[in-house]
Amino acid sequence: MKAQEIREQVCAMGRKLVEAKLLVGTWGNISARIDDKTMAITPSGKDYLELEAEDIVIVNLKDGSYEGLKPSGEKTLHMAIYNHRKEINGVIHTHSDNSSTVAATRREVPAILDDLAQIIGPSIRCADYALPTTKKMSKTTMKALKGRNAALLANHGAVCLGRSMDEAYTCCQVLEKACKVFIESEFLGGAKPINKIEAYMMHQVYLRKYSKQ
Ligand SMILES: [Zn+2]
Repeated sequence: MKAQEIREQVCAMGRKLVEAKLLVGTWGNISARIDDKTMAITPSGKDYLELEAEDIVIVNLKDGSYEGLKPSGEKTLHMAIYNHRKEINGVIHTHSDNSSTVAATRREVPAILDDLAQIIGPSIRCADYALPTTKKMSKTTMKALKGRNAALLANHGAVCLGRSMDEAYTCCQVLEKACKVFIESEFLGGAKPINKIEAYMMHQVYLRKYSKQ
């Protein structure tokens, strides 16, 4: 896909996430890989409903340099993901309601639902707290993302990855639902997780089955 098409895709995803109530105002950020050297990311502090493809910033994955509008403050995290996870082509960072609630408790969500295990992995880890936009936050998040396609960010929100932008979106939906179920099942005595090895296998099968997107 060409850079312009990818910028349009990022822009459209912003609208879709606002409509799904997964993003509010100017919070969060979205990016897509263009190639090994560049990514397209939402600009800093612009309302998603007013975004145009031309506002999406193209950032160099090696040194963070860019042209045009100022990229999202979390560009360091997005860069780290594309540099360390070559299979990933879309990244969405949200402050969605239920993921924020669980992130405030800094708890790890076990594989309590089949779709969580398939799409995200054997659990959703919560990255250790680090100030937003810092290198430390990228480091703690990369650690929490090991073998997973999503992670919670302590006292902050969540990050969801995908081999395509659509897969990252599905990941966001599954994560938000899993966090809601996790919270609500506490009132019924607590969720019973799927066996860790089975959850791991389910993720591997999913990754292989849907590898050609
Ligand atoms: Zn954030």
